[in-house]
This record gives sequence, C-alpha cells and structure tokens, in this order.
Amino acid sequence: QEPALRTDLNLATSDALFTRAKDHIPGGVNSPVRAFRAVGGHPVFMQSAKGAWLTDVDGNRYLDFINSWGPMILGHAPEVVLSAVQDAIQGSLSFGAPTRREVEMAELIKKMVPSIEKVRLVNSGTEATMSAIRVARGYTGRNKIIKFEGCYHGHGDSFLIAAGSGALTLGTPDSPGVTEGVAQDTITVAYNDLAATHAAIEANKDQVAALILEPVVGNMGLVAPAEGYLQGLRALCTEHGIVLIFDEVMTGFRLARGGAQELYGIKPDMTTLGKIIGGGMPVGAYGGRQDIMDCVAPAGKVYQAGTLSGNPIATAAGIAQLTYLHEHPELYPELERITTRIADGTRQIAAELGLNYTVNQVGSMFSVFFTDKPVNNLEDAKTSDTEAFGRYFRAMLHRGIYLAPAQYEALFVSTAVTDDLVDHYLTACRESMREAHG
Ligand code: PLP
Repeated sequence: QEPALRTDLNLATSDALFTRAKDHIPGGVNSPVRAFRAVGGHPVFMQSAKGAWLTDVDGNRYLDFINSWGPMILGHAPEVVLSAVQDAIQGSLSFGAPTRREVEMAELIKKMVPSIEKVRLVNSGTEATMSAIRVARGYTGRNKIIKFEGCYHGHGDSFLIAAGSGALTLGTPDSPGVTEGVAQDTITVAYNDLAATHAAIEANKDQVAALILEPVVGNMGLVAPAEGYLQGLRALCTEHGIVLIFDEVMTGFRLARGGAQELYGIKPDMTTLGKIIGGGMPVGAYGGRQDIMDCVAPAGKVYQAGTLSGNPIATAAGIAQLTYLHEHPELYPELERITTRIADGTRQIAAELGLNYTVNQVGSMFSVFFTDKPVNNLEDAKTSDTEAFGRYFRAMLHRGIYLAPAQYEALFVSTAVTDDLVDHYLTACRESMREAHG
C-alpha cells in the first residue's frame, strides 16, 4: 500500500538525531555522502525497511532507489536472507577459524563468476580493492597502477587520487593524509579513452602492475563503456603483462549473475566484489587467476588477513542471496525491463519540459544527468546542473522517493519494484522536475 504523494514531511526526529550526531560523529555521519551536503537539508534517519519501502524514524515512508548503495537487489529484508541469518546466529557470531560456509561461498562465487579460480573473502569493497592491487604488485614486481578519472574503488590511499589529471600526468593527493609517495604510483586516465590509456602505458613501460576500473562506472553517475573499450583494455593488459582488475563491487551479481564481465564477455585477471555478495552484511572479496591468487598468504608471500573475514553471519546472508540470484536468472531481464521503463519515462518527462537531459542505464542501474550532453566520462558528467539536481532531489524526497543525495551516483532498482511502483515514481518525477525548474 503506497502512501499518497506528499510534500509536507515531518522530519523532527531525524533533525534532532542529526543535531546529536554532529556532537559525536564527524559531520554527523559514518560515510560522507549520507550527510546530504551535495543537495542541502538534513539526512533522514532510517528505522526499518521491507521490500521497496524505507520507513524513517518519524514514520515517513520512501520508495527506495539507493538500496543501501547496491546490496539490496532483492529489496529490503527478503525472507530467504533473513532466515539464513537467523539460522546462523544460533551457532555463534564469529569463530576466527575456518567454516563450511566459507567453502560454500567460494564455490558459489566461482560458479557465478568463472574468471575467478581462487577467491579470498574480506569485509568491504575497500579491503577487496586494496588487497587486489597489493597482490598485483607482488605478482608483477611492479609498483604503479592505472585508474580512471571518476572511478571510485573505496578509500584506500592509492585510489584517492585527483580526477582530471591528464593521461600522462602523475597523480597528486586528493585527500589530505595521502602521501605524495603513494600518489606517484597511481596514474589517472580519462575513462572510455583507449588511446590515452595506451599512451600512459607507453610512458610508464614495464612499471605498471595493474589497471583497475569499474567496467560499468557507477561512481560518476552511471557511465557505460564505449563499444570495444573493454576489449581494448583487455588486449593492452595482455600485451604489456599488466593485471587487469575489474572492480565489480557495484556491478557484480547486479548486471548479470556473473557481473559486467559476463554482460560484455571479457575475462579480467582479477575481480573485486562487495555489496550484493553480503546481502546487506559487511562482505567483500577479491579473486582471479589461480597463479595470481596463489601469491596470497599463506599460499604465497603477499600478506592479507582479517579477524572477521569469512564471518559466519555475513557468509550466511551472502550465500542465501547469491543462491537465490543463481537459481533465478529470469530476474535479470525483468529488472532491466522495469529500469528501462523508469529511464525512458524520466527522459520523456524531462523532454516535456524542454530539458534534453541524459539518462544513462545499464541493466538495473541508472542515472539522470542534469545536462544535455551525452555522458561518457567524468568531464561530461561535470557539465550537470547540480543546483537543479539538488532541487529535484528535495522535491522527490518530499514526495516519498529516496534517491542518492548527489548527482554523481548511480541509482539501483530492486526486484521489489513493480510496474505500479514505476508509475508512482514517474508521477513524483513529473511533479518534481516541474518544481525543480519552476
Ligand atoms: N569499488 C566500487 C566500485 C564501489 O562502488 C565501492 C563503494 O561504493 C567500493 C569499491 C568500496 O566499497 P566499500 O564501501 O564496501 O568499502
């Protein structure tokens, strides 16, 4: 039962909690984007969620298009995951010793992502990417990595390098606390520019250990790879002995059972995973070719460890969600159909207002860019009218639609979104677009 579209939100309890939070937590939040700074206003504090709907601490309900930034592909609190977790907690919350579930999880991941021959579980996407580049460096004996402007790989030092620098320019720290020494080993290149990548490799001959990218980018808003781009990167890496790492923390198990690599038919050397793999619990993983993964301790010399890695509750949730996805391949085309309705509908609504906005979509991920320029890289994305986006975001929130509180994010659709809920979204979208441009 959908609440009627409303604009008079009472956020008193959220506001009071945010005031308290700011006294104790930096910026009042445990992850920066949650603070709503890019869109204005205060964050909404959540209480519970089921299916497609979130309920906040003041009792307001929202149709959710963040889905915990991706993990909740089956919607919130699906029975299949909840019951697996309930079973698991009876057997203790952690052992710090091997368990059957870790073996089952590894087997399941390998079955769904065949480029992975061996896999190590960690606790977040950040840990997965940090570990993957260490392994790639250990394997190749080289120091540098190539990353792409606008791709986000978690908050490891090596990845917090300024976007916008040219293909051949060495990175400079993006965040205080990242040393110049670390930054010098990260080379940044524009996404979707194969020639620039080639030039960067030539300029750093025999020094590049790994090339890491989001094969479909979610972190500058949703940006798809150009035709032949991923194939081109694959060929360059093979030719130059560079480890190709697909960061599929967002796209893994979302764009297809086997992620973007299945969708585009590319076999990376290593893959990093997170989000969906934990069903909402903190899990990440990195894996890939056996000869590379056998460098990881204790099989090899590259050290990586974790007190809670392979945690029984997290693996129970992950196994349950992945098993469901594995057994229901039909949900992927259905997710795409629903998301296409949303993307097409949004494009049309903007056009009715004379706004030729770019709506990018791949499978169940989409972004509405407030620009009429096609968006194929960070520079394009930055042409968006972020002020208008902020007004749109607030108008949608007040109509009970929960979007990512920043222009440069992807939105995620869950299997809980029905055709009726798409209609509900589109009604809110039409009113909010008008309000944002009124
Ligand atoms: N890699 C990608 C592609 C991501 O989108 C994210 C997080 O959004 C990460 C890595 C980092 O994952 P986590 O936030 O779990 O550390």
